[in-house]
Amino acid sequence: MSKYDVIVIGGGPGGYVASIRCSQMGLHTACVEGRDTLGGTCLNVGCIPSKALLHASHQLHEAEHNFEKMGLIAKPPSIDWAKMQNYKTETIDANTKGIEFLFKKNKIDHLKGWASISSPGKVQINKTTYEAKNIIIASGSEPSTIPSVKIDEKIIVSSTGALSLSKIPKTMTVIGAGVIGLELGSVYARLGTKVTIIEYLDYITPGMDAEVQKTFQRILKKQGISFIMGAAVQSASKSRSLGKVKYKLKKDDSLHELDADIILVATGRKPNTNGLGLDKLNMELTERGQIKTDSRWRTNIPNIYAIGDVVEGPMLAHKAEDEGMAVAEQIAGKNGHVNYQVIPSVIYTAPEVASVGLTEQQAKENDRSVKVGKFMFMGNGRAKANFAVDGFVKIIADKDSDRILGAHIVGPAAGDLIHELCIAMEFGASAQDVALTCHAHPTYSEAIREAALACGSGAIHA
Ligand code: NAD
Repeated sequence: MSKYDVIVIGGGPGGYVASIRCSQMGLHTACVEGRDTLGGTCLNVGCIPSKALLHASHQLHEAEHNFEKMGLIAKPPSIDWAKMQNYKTETIDANTKGIEFLFKKNKIDHLKGWASISSPGKVQINKTTYEAKNIIIASGSEPSTIPSVKIDEKIIVSSTGALSLSKIPKTMTVIGAGVIGLELGSVYARLGTKVTIIEYLDYITPGMDAEVQKTFQRILKKQGISFIMGAAVQSASKSRSLGKVKYKLKKDDSLHELDADIILVATGRKPNTNGLGLDKLNMELTERGQIKTDSRWRTNIPNIYAIGDVVEGPMLAHKAEDEGMAVAEQIAGKNGHVNYQVIPSVIYTAPEVASVGLTEQQAKENDRSVKVGKFMFMGNGRAKANFAVDGFVKIIADKDSDRILGAHIVGPAAGDLIHELCIAMEFGASAQDVALTCHAHPTYSEAIREAALACGSGAIHA
């Protein structure tokens, strides 16, 4: 029987990062993964493959809409779907192999199979039991559907099936205008699919700043995506080649139907605790089925920790990674820490949407006096040159201290730009600190400085 300092269950962004950090801390570490490849949902069927398709479809959009304006005269490209799928697969392979390499480099044992915890300190994989002083559960999440909708991954698909459709559908109904629905909906809309998104709420992307929600929805509509808002999907069924969604409009309780080649169910994800043996251990769960932990990621069972999508908090790969590093440091006797106030969230569409910290509405709900500095990308020289003028940067700062409390961006490279404001928030910076920092011209980043200036004496190019 092998004995480890730490066994990590799950090789996704939370688990593989925790494993690497444990090993860097001198702990003898193994990571168990049931999939054939490391990287979890994110690398295999989530963030990475969807970004490959987003990139390809964005390039197509540029060629179709902007090449001619720049004097690039070429035939509009046609789509070789099989080749695009290969590109996606190669992107996945390059990333998952990268993790394998890192495991070898860090002398982490990669145990293959689905793990369960037979008793504290004992992990069972197939018929073999491994011993560990500490166990970290990083088993992630899986798509959750609505009760009357059964996913077959052919016509009624989750995000997983949507990444590997046999052909580009003519029509697609997306249930849910959250991150997944919008990211994948916009991929297929750019590839020529007629996409209709049905959303229960009256706004898209719940939790985002209200101004961002409105602007973002307007941009998506302009790109050809249709929305049915305030509509509760009741059921989804399929015939041989078509899916049918039945939904009820909240405003008058009227019932409607919509047919499409593909139905994408994007109504959220749920923690994955299947088969881990948590019942037998009497492990405490929350009402939503997440593993309960304290502020140091300890479960109610000594020496068993949990991180990532399987615990509370936003289901984001980078939140899981941060927890992975921090829990490893805790186990090694150091002070691992995650600042949950400064976790960026990004929607990878074109343009991107990114946000960190408080929204204007949350600040008001918390009775905080704030000022808002906003700058439209229309006033940014680089955005004009690149046909990327849709959107804005919005900074929320404390009215008295000027300290940055939140930032929200719709626009080009928003997912990269947001980090300047994350760092500012980590350092407790004021909007003026950002406004006084020289920003290179011409860059998209100047829009951040302008929004910071707008919190004080005013933006220059507005
Ligand atoms: P979500 O919770 O973000 O959105 C689901 C949407 O579906 C909500 O707007 C909800 O109102 C709607 N909905 C639910 N039931 C409905 C019904 N019966 N009829 C109509 N609408 C209904 O969920 P998601 O988009 O599936 O994403 C799941 C998780 O994965 C989220 O936590 C998300 O943060 C994470 N994720 C993040 C990224 C990223 O950061 N870029 C990418 C993918 C997934």
